[in-house]
Amino acid sequence: MIDIKSMLPDQLGVYLKELGQPAFRSKQIFQWLHRGVTSFDQMTDLPKALRETLKEQCYITAPIVERKQQSALDGTIKYLWRLRDGNCVETVLMRYQHGNTVCVSCQVGCNMGCKFCASTLGGKVRDLQPSEILDQIIFTQLDSGAEISNIVMMGIGEPLDNFDNVIQFLHLVNHPQGVNIGMRHISLSTCGLVKKIDKLAQLGLQLTLSVSLHAPDDETRSKLMPVNRAVGVDLLMDTCRRYFQQTGRRISYEYAMIDGVNDGDQQADLLVKLLRGQPGHVNLIPLNHVEESPLKPSRRVRQFQKRLESQGVTATVRRKLGGDIDASCGQLRRKHMQQDQLQPGKDEAL
Ligand code: SAH
Repeated sequence: MIDIKSMLPDQLGVYLKELGQPAFRSKQIFQWLHRGVTSFDQMTDLPKALRETLKEQCYITAPIVERKQQSALDGTIKYLWRLRDGNCVETVLMRYQHGNTVCVSCQVGCNMGCKFCASTLGGKVRDLQPSEILDQIIFTQLDSGAEISNIVMMGIGEPLDNFDNVIQFLHLVNHPQGVNIGMRHISLSTCGLVKKIDKLAQLGLQLTLSVSLHAPDDETRSKLMPVNRAVGVDLLMDTCRRYFQQTGRRISYEYAMIDGVNDGDQQADLLVKLLRGQPGHVNLIPLNHVEESPLKPSRRVRQFQKRLESQGVTATVRRKLGGDIDASCGQLRRKHMQQDQLQPGKDEAL
């Protein structure tokens, strides 16, 4: 069966030509899919015979709301979606003054093993298809009625560990006949897979790359993020400099503030040294406490920020939204699995 929503209009065109269909059908079908129809019968301007053929050969992904939590404080909505094979992923809708932002997941679980992160506790179950990442935008928009203007790839999973599907998703969501969100309104966050950062640079996309740094020295970073044991901070920063030179896009560095681990003055000074000579921006994230983890939120966020700024590094503190609805990404899926003793199948065919 063909995952029809993962195809771009050109690819759809090739497939439809094989079925003996005129080129304009691909635009019709693409538009229907991106509006969120869930069956071919809803595509009322297609000939009946074509609808029947599509039904035989293709499927349309459509996640079901498994759980939904809305913050009484700021209107943030967190969705837990159930996918075709029973696996679940999270999406968060955040309302800012500059527009509505959706935070999407790109994998079921994650293999990166970061010590502070709830998404990685059960490892990776599977990659999401381009359609399944896109659906999080389409169905969040349909369910909430909120028009989405920005996307952050900061949900469950490591985007660069699902490279091809994530790139295909970016082209789908960016397409003028679809949801049409500009690359400059999209942020992609990575734990720092350097070869893939180079590969991304070659594509020259105008998105914002966020790098999860979390520590300026190898000792601390390797403790928090196993990925650092293979690729140290120096190589990561060289790669980031190269990324900026090739794309002209400033990188945003994420830094989750953890009590007594990475929040000292010395570490702030090291961070300043690391970023010297390259335009970048530091985003300080007050740690979201994960039940299973001994790590605690820092109490020195403002001091750390001041110390960076006094040495010429721009640093913002991320505003916490949805504080009353299960905090950081990965936690809702995890709780749900524990409560319902869900054992979603590994790598089940879609
Ligand atoms: N795999 C990608 C995207 C995942 S999450 C990455 O590593 O960048 C997006 C951001 O949230 C990352 O910077 C991640 O390190 C951070 N994060 C994960 N768990 C967190 C927690 N408990 N508190 C604060 N930030 C967290």
